[in-house]
Amino acid sequence: MIELLDSLVRIDSVTPWLIPGGAGEGEVARFMQRWLTSAGLDVTLEDVEPGRPNVLAWLRGTAPGPTICLTAHSDTVGYAAWPDRALTPVVDGDRMIGVGVADDKGGCAAAMLAAAELVRCGTPLAGNVLVALAIDEEGVSIGTEHLVAHHADEIDLAIELEPEGSHLIFGEHQGFGWIDIVVFGEPAHGSAPDKGVDAIVHMAEVITRLHRLDETRWKPNPDPRNGRTVFHTGTIAGGTDYATYPAEVVLGIEIGTQPGETLADRVAEIEAIFDEVKAVEPRFRGEVRVRLDRDPFTGAGNDALLAALADATEAVNGTRAQITGLNAWTDAALLQSAGIPTVLFGPEGGNYHAAEEWVSIPDVIATAEILRRTVVTLIGVPEPATSPS
Ligand SMILES: [Zn+2]
Repeated sequence: MIELLDSLVRIDSVTPWLIPGGAGEGEVARFMQRWLTSAGLDVTLEDVEPGRPNVLAWLRGTAPGPTICLTAHSDTVGYAAWPDRALTPVVDGDRMIGVGVADDKGGCAAAMLAAAELVRCGTPLAGNVLVALAIDEEGVSIGTEHLVAHHADEIDLAIELEPEGSHLIFGEHQGFGWIDIVVFGEPAHGSAPDKGVDAIVHMAEVITRLHRLDETRWKPNPDPRNGRTVFHTGTIAGGTDYATYPAEVVLGIEIGTQPGETLADRVAEIEAIFDEVKAVEPRFRGEVRVRLDRDPFTGAGNDALLAALADATEAVNGTRAQITGLNAWTDAALLQSAGIPTVLFGPEGGNYHAAEEWVSIPDVIATAEILRRTVVTLIGVPEPATSPS
């Protein structure tokens, strides 16, 4: 495990969507292909964009049955905060430190080793295992979008591997939207207050009310599983110069949705704020532009998978994992939305998207064994009962 994880971290796979000029996933995908092929899986690379392939590794069972997809992402965020050490993993006690070691190369390694171990043991399976290592999760998830667009009908169950710790299993999590709120003013000379409408002052009214909504509604009422509904501002831009009434200002926000909600619920709340502002500022004009809309992950049909996974955590760790939710978004939502019952699970780590990112080596090993056992529970062929002679 240490050798595999070390090799994965050393190969730069920064997502070029996030960091222009990032190395991309091509080289790490070719390494994964070689490793999985020599482990005995049937591997293909599928270009999602030129030079950015998903890795699909099949372990086909000896009898027909459902296909379980073990999926993780091969890209990482950038490492500008620690350029000298990010790609040179070190082992420190139980931990390995390096960029992407937890998010998500620990998940990739656990899936790869679990599948390799099933081959090595010659475990008879009534069904198939697909190890899918997708690109661009740290970007806009075009890797998993491609996976579900081309293979959803071949997959019956999925385990999305992302770090948190094998003591937790996530059956749901929040969705989110990236939204531009645009407020329009009326440009005018600074000395023409009767003509000018100050877009930035009007935006201040909107921001104040958004903040109040967060303080009074979302902050005091966290979802018991998925936490406080995500809300924060991200960017703001507007105005032309000191001497002119600003004609337009654009605020970029990130905002969450709980399972059962949609982004349209959040948009309606923002439009209600527009009405409030218009009541005190009659010349107010605003517009909501949804830039990205990601549904929450609302687990359905995954009871057998949750039970098998929870049993396996108990067998391997000695304590049963807690089934809960998360106040973040993952590709699990795309799999579930494509009709594939999915759970989210993965090894313990820390300092995600920051310097000194680490993963627990024992927990990556435990995760691989938990995955192997879960597959055996779900599609393993029981030993034939030996008849007395
Ligand atoms: Zn991740």
